[in-house]
Amino acid sequence: MQTAMNATLKYCPQCAQPLALAAHGGTQRLACTDAKCGFVFWDNPVPVVAAIVEHNGQVILARNALWPPGMFALITGFLEKDDPDPASGVLREVEEELGLQARVASFVGHYPFERMNQLIIAYHVIAEGEVVLGEELAEYKHVPFEQIRPWPAGTGYAVRDWLLRQGIQPLPFDRRFLSRIRNFRVIDERLLTAGQPTAEEFTALHACGVDTVINLALNDSDHALADERAVVTRLGMQYIHIPVVWQAPQREDFVQFSAAMKQARASQKTVLAHCAANKRVSVFVMLDRVLNLGLPRAIAERDLQAIWQPDPVWAEFIRAQLDEPSQP
Ligand SMILES: [Zn+2]
Repeated sequence: MQTAMNATLKYCPQCAQPLALAAHGGTQRLACTDAKCGFVFWDNPVPVVAAIVEHNGQVILARNALWPPGMFALITGFLEKDDPDPASGVLREVEEELGLQARVASFVGHYPFERMNQLIIAYHVIAEGEVVLGEELAEYKHVPFEQIRPWPAGTGYAVRDWLLRQGIQPLPFDRRFLSRIRNFRVIDERLLTAGQPTAEEFTALHACGVDTVINLALNDSDHALADERAVVTRLGMQYIHIPVVWQAPQREDFVQFSAAMKQARASQKTVLAHCAANKRVSVFVMLDRVLNLGLPRAIAERDLQAIWQPDPVWAEFIRAQLDEPSQP
């Protein structure tokens, strides 16, 4: 699914005619509508070099200036045309971004990062000298090997493999910095819920492995983003909007939500479901887990009660979906 990348190219770079989907090489690809031109947008993955930088016996993690506070990662950069080979490219990146001279200690592996249409080529490098941050980075930190918590995406898999080779069992994937999102809650490995995230927080969610965003808020709900669909799809995530009116939730809303969750489970997507304050979502998630996954209500309700006590409108909505008789 590289729709976000494809969406950036509308016209043929050779002859400026519009591009359209056509069968090439066994799948649908954007191709020039002028048969004489013959341009096909193959959309091949882009090689990215990544460095696990060992410095004074610890690993350096850095925060990109565009990322939210608390979000740190490996040093990465695009392989450049003039790099003699990927190992030279990764050393160039370490020097540009940290001001450090480094040498390659080992090749860790290559990892597909499908969401970004990248191929990550990861190295363990050992660096010396004083850190001087490049302009792309906001801050850095030294982390002891055994305290690194890799991300469940992209470079996180390289970190995990490298830690295992150092004889260290990696800690669970790191989602700590998501906890500052309004009313954020982890339901299970593949389902996160929250109130309205900011654009920066969507970037962090994406980096943590979220593939699909389901929004139950209205476009004019509290804290709504001006164009959430654009923000989310630009990052390469799928966006599903099911606007649920706060004062009048409908069975049809829940039917749509159930279908979206079923689809996500079948395709093993990691979902963020959010609304304005995680109230609508906490009810829908509880109902989905009881009605569609067969979870006991008492267990499914814990995550709901951690967020709020449903008001009379929502208590009645829950009763109606669970097919309970109304209270006299
Ligand atoms: Zn063309």
